[in-house]
Amino acid sequence: MTETESSTMNRESAQTLVVHDKHDERHFGSVTTPLYQTSLFSFATYAEFDHAMESFTDQPVYSRGNNPTVQQLEQRLAQLQGGEKARCFASGMAAISTAVLSSVRQGDHIVCVNQVYGPARKLLEGFLTKMGIETTFVDGSSKQELQAAVRANTKLFYLESPTSLMMQLQDLKFCADLARSIGALTLIDNTWATPCLQNPFAYGIDLVVHSTSKFIGGHSDGIGGVIIGSAERIGQIDENEYLLLGGIMTPHTASLMMRGLRTLPLRMERFHESGLRVAGHLEGMPHVIKVHHPGLPSHPQHELAKAQMSGYGSLFAFELDLPVETVKRWADQLEYFRIGVSWGGYESLITVPSLPDGYESVTGVLVRMYIGLEDPQLLIGDIERAFKRLG
Ligand SMILES: *Cc1c(COP(=O)(O)O)cnc(C)c1O
Repeated sequence: MTETESSTMNRESAQTLVVHDKHDERHFGSVTTPLYQTSLFSFATYAEFDHAMESFTDQPVYSRGNNPTVQQLEQRLAQLQGGEKARCFASGMAAISTAVLSSVRQGDHIVCVNQVYGPARKLLEGFLTKMGIETTFVDGSSKQELQAAVRANTKLFYLESPTSLMMQLQDLKFCADLARSIGALTLIDNTWATPCLQNPFAYGIDLVVHSTSKFIGGHSDGIGGVIIGSAERIGQIDENEYLLLGGIMTPHTASLMMRGLRTLPLRMERFHESGLRVAGHLEGMPHVIKVHHPGLPSHPQHELAKAQMSGYGSLFAFELDLPVETVKRWADQLEYFRIGVSWGGYESLITVPSLPDGYESVTGVLVRMYIGLEDPQLLIGDIERAFKRLG
């Protein structure tokens, strides 16, 4: 991985941060954070209870406000991402819907990239219109389109860079500057790059969300999300959407996510290398029209990717010049790739997604591929063998 000015923590510091817990007498020096499987916390005196009630979301009183197992994960994620404070949620979508609802009110307008994660698009173009909040979807790679979409009532720019299907980037500094100049907020879905490979705060982005169900959890065994931002902004979310909508992460999930986080920087190095290797090989294979991976020189935004990120995730897409039925038969032949949604675990995955609006540039059948922790050479052999078996 290359070091760039994007100011993500270097990998040794990141790996140290996620494995090093201070010795804690209260927990007998336990190496892992104990799982506080409790709904409430009780107090010996009324004075202590009164004191704790003053900061319901920062001290353990009730697990819809604060739970120490979840809090440890939140603190670690905030540090790793370079934000002041983090709040975890029941899913990536709970984090996204909370972050959006905290940023806009009736009559406001949102500018969003048109290749955004599907359910996020549905939230904006379906659900929010019921509340009188309108969204304009634009080609996020075009500064002109981003600028032209601004209205007098634009209050939020919703970004996802790279997008998780076609790996399209936005220029984060340009977006943050544009938003600031009109008094709007910026929010980015940073799930693909993880806190290890992209620091949006360095470019002036206000809120960062992640689905922790992907790389952060890393073991395909839990669903969760996080919002990271300034103490002030997370404090506002705490008092309103977090407590009132109540989509909390459970302590059990937080303990699974914490275990995943312990190896995140290490795993991202492997994902970076394996993803690039398989994507690079695919570029030369028969039937492959185009590979969409920002780490390949053929990607139209490769220079921006190198400047904004310090490495790459291992989810990418490619287009095949075969009928969709043939592509599905090819997928059936693969030995090491399972067919399934999601990504970010140890196992390689493949899907042939159906494309909504915003993907008019796709000319072949689009395949989404996730490279797990297996030997990349075996995966390449598997892909080649499956093509040969098609005849
Ligand atoms: C999976 C995903 C989400 C949603 O996360 P959930 O945990 O499934 O709710 C959001 N954004 C991206 C880019 C994702 O891949």
